[in-house]
Amino acid sequence: IAKSLCWRQCGKTGDHTHIFWDCPVILAYWKNIKLEMEKIVKREVPSNVRFFLLGVISVDVFNADQRYILRVLLLIAKKNITANWKSVKSPTVTE
Ligand SMILES: [Zn+2]
Repeated sequence: IAKSLCWRQCGKTGDHTHIFWDCPVILAYWKNIKLEMEKIVKREVPSNVRFFLLGVISVDVFNADQRYILRVLLLIAKKNITANWKSVKSPTVTE
């Protein structure tokens, strides 16, 4: 299979991880999502792939309500990426 380049024109190979995480365009998006989440749960959220893509939320750090809202926000944030599939631009936090 020929490696296809990322459609966001960053010049890198556009595999699954890249499209959802590694791409510089999408990393900026996740950074903004993180800031919004921290405003909502009023504490620091992790900035790793385990939290954002696999949805691993620490029971030691977040209570049940916080885990629930974080799960919902992560779901919307990922849905937003698939909704903007093949778009050069990043989805926005407002979306
Ligand atoms: Zn890219």
